[in-house]
Amino acid sequence: MTSPRRIVIVGGVAGGASAAARARRTNEHARITVIERGAHASFANCGLPYYVGGEITDRERLLVARPERFRDWLDVELRTGHEAIAIDPRNRRLVVRDLGTGRDETLEWDRLILAPGARPLRPPVPGAHAPNVFTLRDLHDADGLHAAVTGGARRAVVVGAGYIGLELAEMLARRGLGVTLVERLPQVLQSLDPELASVVSDELRRRGVCVRLGQGLAGFELEGGLVRSVTMDHGEGVDADLVVLALGVRPDLRLAEDAGLAIGPAGGIRVDEYMRTSAEGIYAVGDAVEYTHAVTTGPALVPLAGPATRAGRVAGEHAATDAGPPMAPVLGTSIVRVFGVVAGSTGLTRRQAATAGLPVRELLVPGHDHATYYPGASPLVLKVLYHQEDGRLLGAQVVGRNGVDKRLDVLATAIGLGARADHLATLDLAYAPPFGAARDPIHVAGFLAENERRGLDRFLAPNELDALPAGAQILDVRNADERAADPADGTIAIPLGELRARLAELDPTRPVITLCKGGQRAYFASRILRQRGFADVRTTTGGMVAWHGCRGH
Ligand code: FAD
Repeated sequence: MTSPRRIVIVGGVAGGASAAARARRTNEHARITVIERGAHASFANCGLPYYVGGEITDRERLLVARPERFRDWLDVELRTGHEAIAIDPRNRRLVVRDLGTGRDETLEWDRLILAPGARPLRPPVPGAHAPNVFTLRDLHDADGLHAAVTGGARRAVVVGAGYIGLELAEMLARRGLGVTLVERLPQVLQSLDPELASVVSDELRRRGVCVRLGQGLAGFELEGGLVRSVTMDHGEGVDADLVVLALGVRPDLRLAEDAGLAIGPAGGIRVDEYMRTSAEGIYAVGDAVEYTHAVTTGPALVPLAGPATRAGRVAGEHAATDAGPPMAPVLGTSIVRVFGVVAGSTGLTRRQAATAGLPVRELLVPGHDHATYYPGASPLVLKVLYHQEDGRLLGAQVVGRNGVDKRLDVLATAIGLGARADHLATLDLAYAPPFGAARDPIHVAGFLAENERRGLDRFLAPNELDALPAGAQILDVRNADERAADPADGTIAIPLGELRARLAELDPTRPVITLCKGGQRAYFASRILRQRGFADVRTTTGGMVAWHGCRGH
């Protein structure tokens, strides 16, 4: 029989609720208590933007597991409106304050699990706490923002273009507000490389959101205690009835630091593979901790719900039984919908790979979500990053209107299992015309990597377009009508069908870069040239998508 140990969990949402459920399922005799500062445990933070935007109309649906379920299904004592205020690791005690009465109580524990989450960043400028300046972390925040929107706000400024900022920009625009999105960096979504991120900012602009990239928030102009205008760092003001700060989050470390728990180099609570902190008997999970990154193997902050719930499960079982499987390293796979565009990423971006010192090769594959002969096919672009020397997949990004989630999850699975880029060519994926193609863009990425590995082709990665080899001839093999519609300056135009007859127009001693709309004909041209004595031939992967999107980045 398992021991009747006392397990106390701080934080009752993603990580904490998962830990409580798993602890109960693996130890029927434990006494499990969840301490939650807020009014609700186990609510759907990820659904909050959609509640603000009116896509989720019934607020009750955001309450995933109600208190009765904690009590009746799990036999867990849930104390909402209670805040853990101090940990005594040596004597295994926790001081808990009833926020209703102000009374403190000391709980004893055999195992303590910390799942306090993270806090949204607020810039240290006057007005950042004004009543019409919002962050979005919990239901209370969502209620405030919802009330401001329904209360007649007309103009919103969203500061920060991460996925929460983008979701809110869309939701506020859908509610009829004029929305300005301000981002200090030159692109939206740092989880994407710039050429894919521009697809998302183009969509925002097309839908009427004013997107200001490379412009930071400098301060606020206040009137009667309310922000009336947001001042940008070059001095210009943008009028606002409400402001949303979506600047990212920082791990909530207060309890952990006070208790002397080790904090890791990435700035989260340091844990081992069972989510154990540096103090005996204390575990930590979720946005507050550092996970092991699956690609870099280093510590990483990954404030996402999937890792939080998986870590909660690991910690819950280990706290309850001293056994169970370890936490798997994480990739940070994430996805966001912005109006009609869906964008997702997994693993490392170009910038992150460079920071990690990994030599990276990139592939860009424009394709479609399903067979183009079947009605309704919509374009998508897939990007794969892999290790230049051993071919190991390092990251992937997908942007499109449909079918993005499927490709992203396949790629995340492949990366997680340690696949090489050329392994993608071998994947046995589901296909019928409404769902995909016999040669999915994922396969095409694999073919490209395989061709290069076998020496059949050498491709020009998107990030190499800015530094072409000296004396390069750029051969555009598109048809005349395609060129007229979408010119590519400085290229030699020979349509693919005429190439064999017009080889004399090219100098076989100089490098040739082949280019077409999506990459396929460029590859065909490269194969012709290589087999006809051209020594240095490179195929532009991603075709005109890369040509337009990548140059200058
Ligand atoms: P939380 O879920 O935040 O729970 C922490 C809880 O601890 C809080 O309720 C807090 O009140 C409580 N607490 C803190 N300190 C104390 C204390 N001292 N005493 C008592 N209670 C305390 N992730 C995705 O993967 N996909 C998404 O689409 C997505 N969308 C999101 C949208 C929004 C608006 C937000 C805010 C987050 C979103 N996330 C998303 C992130 C995801 O919600 C978090 O990664 C996840 O909730 C983290 O879980 P956690 O348990 O660490 O923290």
